[in-house]
Amino acid sequence: MDVHKDNAAAAEAANPFEASLAGSRLFPLMSSCISTLQVNMGRVCNQSCRHCHVEAGPGRTEVISRLTLDACLRILKDRRYPIVDITGGAPEMSPHYRWFVQECRRVKCHVKTRTNLTILLEEGYKDLPGFFAANRVEVIASLPYYLENETDRQRGQGVFEASIEALKALNARGYGMEDGLALNLVYNPCGAFLPPSQRSITEDFRRELMKRHGIRFTNLFTITNMPIGRFLKFLKDSGNLNRYMDRLKTSYNPAAAANVMCRQTLSVGWDGSLFDCDFNQMLGLKCDHGAPDHISGFKGPELESRRIVTGVHCYGCTAGAGSSCTGAVAD
Ligand code: SF4
Ligand code: SF4
Repeated sequence: MDVHKDNAAAAEAANPFEASLAGSRLFPLMSSCISTLQVNMGRVCNQSCRHCHVEAGPGRTEVISRLTLDACLRILKDRRYPIVDITGGAPEMSPHYRWFVQECRRVKCHVKTRTNLTILLEEGYKDLPGFFAANRVEVIASLPYYLENETDRQRGQGVFEASIEALKALNARGYGMEDGLALNLVYNPCGAFLPPSQRSITEDFRRELMKRHGIRFTNLFTITNMPIGRFLKFLKDSGNLNRYMDRLKTSYNPAAAANVMCRQTLSVGWDGSLFDCDFNQMLGLKCDHGAPDHISGFKGPELESRRIVTGVHCYGCTAGAGSSCTGAVAD
């Protein structure tokens, strides 16, 4: 009897992604450890981009509490997870943001922060490049493209110009140039297609941003647009949903599946709920299969070897070279 074949048949009925996993001997998908605690500070953002998978915006009010952040710090200290990845919305807009970054540094974590760049030009946030540098924070900045039209089409009028100004402010602090001051850019396609090779588009970004604006950066991460949130709505409205899903499915790559980020990450929602990743968070798919689903019931050993909750959206992480919060996983 071929156990993997049987597993594949059973999984196919319930969840085609799990059938693909079974076909590559990865079913059920299990976490291998937790090296990154991803903390979502809330849904508030100064932008409202059309591809946003968390549907963030200026009108949102959800924000993480100090109590939940205290619990995150206790966990980081007790379990010695090496990396904290702070995300949002625009995480900088959380009232506890700066305090939390400093406390994470105090417990010797490497801190990554996601930034949309434009927030760094707003009143009350202009000193953030200096704050990041003082705390050796790795900056991961969204920049969909090195040309104005493509960027503004996806993120809104004037976003490109503001992003360039913010990148220059980060460069002026040594970001993208000095050791320990990594400035990583995030590229995602401006439509219903997969990203190009991370290596080749990095060269294009490096050449063009230097030539046109004198900007330097460390690495560029390519990210596949996930078929959830506002991007899902765009796919439906534009009649592209089936074609896009077919493309993701037919591009399933076992090597990328073996390296999906949820295997080494735990994601904390703004309300303390626990998720396998940010995307499951958006879909309301909490940790399951017996693992605790709220930070108040945190149990390290169980969560570090938990079974991951998957769905068809997971094809977004496993198509082509794969996609994660740190770019391609099988380039
Ligand atoms: S994609 Fe980023 S910058 Fe745009 S609305 Fe969402 S959280 Fe804000
Ligand atoms: S969407 Fe989340 S759970 Fe699914 S493969 Fe990607 S990281 Fe893992």
